[in-house]
Amino acid sequence: MVELQEVLRKYWGYDGFLPLQKEAMEAVLAGRDSVVVLPTGGGKSLCYQVPALCLPGMAIVVSPLIALMKDQVDGLRECGVPAAAANSSMSGAERWKVAQAIREGQVKVLYVSPERLVQERTIEFLRETRISFVAIDEAHCISEWGHDFRPEYRELGKLRSVLPGVGIHAYTATATQRVRSDIVRQLGLTAPQLLVGSFDRKNLTYKVLRRNALEDQIEAIIKQHADESGIIYCTKRADTESISESLKELGYSALPYHAGMSDLDRRRNQEAFIEDRASIIVATIAFGMGIDKPNVRYVIHAGMPKSLENYQQESGRAGRDGLEAECILIYSPAELYRWKKMIDDAEPQIRKAQQASLDAIYEYCTMPICRHQSLLRYFGQALDGVNCFACDVCLGDVELVPDALIVAQKILSSVVRQEQRYGIDYTAAVLVGSQDERIVRNRHDQLSTYGILADESTRTIKGWIDQLQGQGFLEKFGEFGVLQITAAGRQLLRGAATPRLVRPVQKAAPKRKSVADVSWEGVDRILFEKLRAVRTQLAKARNLPSYQIFGDVTLREMARRFPKTATELRKIRGVGDKKCADVGDPFLDCIREYCQSGPQNPTPTVGSTAETSRMSSGAILAAPYFRSGRSIEEVAAALGRAPSTVFNYLQEFLQHDVVVDWTPWVSDAVARQVLAVARRQPGERVKQIFEQLEGAATYEQIRIVLSCHRNRGEPDASRTVDASR
Ligand code: ADP
Repeated sequence: MVELQEVLRKYWGYDGFLPLQKEAMEAVLAGRDSVVVLPTGGGKSLCYQVPALCLPGMAIVVSPLIALMKDQVDGLRECGVPAAAANSSMSGAERWKVAQAIREGQVKVLYVSPERLVQERTIEFLRETRISFVAIDEAHCISEWGHDFRPEYRELGKLRSVLPGVGIHAYTATATQRVRSDIVRQLGLTAPQLLVGSFDRKNLTYKVLRRNALEDQIEAIIKQHADESGIIYCTKRADTESISESLKELGYSALPYHAGMSDLDRRRNQEAFIEDRASIIVATIAFGMGIDKPNVRYVIHAGMPKSLENYQQESGRAGRDGLEAECILIYSPAELYRWKKMIDDAEPQIRKAQQASLDAIYEYCTMPICRHQSLLRYFGQALDGVNCFACDVCLGDVELVPDALIVAQKILSSVVRQEQRYGIDYTAAVLVGSQDERIVRNRHDQLSTYGILADESTRTIKGWIDQLQGQGFLEKFGEFGVLQITAAGRQLLRGAATPRLVRPVQKAAPKRKSVADVSWEGVDRILFEKLRAVRTQLAKARNLPSYQIFGDVTLREMARRFPKTATELRKIRGVGDKKCADVGDPFLDCIREYCQSGPQNPTPTVGSTAETSRMSSGAILAAPYFRSGRSIEEVAAALGRAPSTVFNYLQEFLQHDVVVDWTPWVSDAVARQVLAVARRQPGERVKQIFEQLEGAATYEQIRIVLSCHRNRGEPDASRTVDASR
């Protein structure tokens, strides 16, 4: 155990294990087969990379995507791990070099594609090599029940007989029992240790939106993630092109990715995204498998995926580094219909399974219960506690309709009275009391349900109809989505079943600090940005994606703890021996220089002081910057907030800290004029002072000076100015 921990610290700079990592590593050391199911970001790679360094011989890692092997090998080498890859994209000479290094015992981790590993020649070669174990990454690819079946993975069934006595370890993020059993059977694993982690990704905030103006909805999300990496998944190739184009026109660096593009274009766009040259990739699901980019801060689904397995997998690409990230699913009922049409021709058994998957994800979209809970329940797990504080429902972005049963009965009654022959638009129009010509012609303006929800918007009513459908009270039929009442719907009409309905609220009222607030806690954002720039430069010079220099977690930790020596730097999470030696200096220089330039290091400590009860959370964050004399503009840039907001924080701060010195924000010359007017005409309001000064001071400056003046408790304005010198 000590050795595992030492290796983890020395090469990766991590102090502890993530959940189940230790058990997974121990299974490898014990030579026992294992199946490890951990969510994306759960730290599966280290489960085999660390023991590979503790055991004699070389570990083989089977990885499905050749294009990404280089990335993985480069990342390991940066940490000082002797790693190599063997695949068909390499030249004969390159492969020969790798073979030579293996013979000389210089490779501890070898990445191989499944098709190469099972070749007779490879097996012959490996028989002469001491193999410590075989790790199979993305092991669900072996199962037809998974979402990424790869026929070449089937061949791996041979491994047991061709490499007898070598432990085989399978790693996947796919949680279903069926896939798990399939992996064990296909690989012929012997009494494997099964380790299944929690699938709750606490750092992800899940949200669901009903589609209306798609591009506006996307832009509204992206605006909140300026310069951060994000993936937008589309169900159609054409959408990836059109959305990336319109984002480009809006000034975002967005690139498309889909299977219809040439290999070269795809690779180019993928690399630009991975290396942070483009912040947004707009892709079909062809993008993403094996992408280890840790700093994806949001994943938007611009269309509904066909199952929750797919959704979990794709949205899971956000926040692999454990920092906060957002996953937003924008759905529309029309997509459900489209997916259903696509499975129409499948064999009955498969169709049934696919239909169930579609119903489950549609229920996720329309059932307003905690999203973390819904996802976990689907994968057979339970949430700790009742509120995740990380989804639209729990954060109060939507509010429960108190008289949902009555509202639902009104909607269903209308459907009955319309003889169950109309779709969602028509039904909503009747309920809202529209003068639509069709409604009048059909005399549906005479129905008792006509206009019965006139106080609601059509959009809200349509949302409720979706929700009733998602909860099984209504069904849609045919191309036009004709609404019909189900057996459960009839019960609802009798009052024997209760639906849950929600409506969006304009302003969410967070009930506690969001994941983002927590993970930025105490981080000096100005320094963080400077460190980011250092990282970008180093990455460029070394031709590596920037996260392979250091992840955001590590940079935030530096901008929190201000390490000034190599020993202090080495204590930061994510800084191993080799990286500290290779790239530590430029980061230390940056921190030292930054500390010298400021009068005092801001060290924000949100939530840990008595300030919490007296200042707003924004003001608490800003206070250390104000104390170190930073300007409103600097603080606005550091916190990513508008200057006007930061001015409000400053006012709170001035009062809280009883600040008497205005000079960081207002010059004495200006202050003298303000106080002169205030002294001449006591009781003057800010507006009058402003007018009398005829532009010599802004409203903000006047307020700051008056606050400081009040804090001195000196009513005589002229004396105050002199005293401040
Ligand atoms: P997975 O393959 O399960 O999606 P990764 O192996 O890519 O996850 O790990 C996700 C992130 O967590 C990576 O940035 C990795 O460096 C980090 N990580 C892994 N193990 C630890 C640990 N013990 N302590 C801190 N961070 C870790």
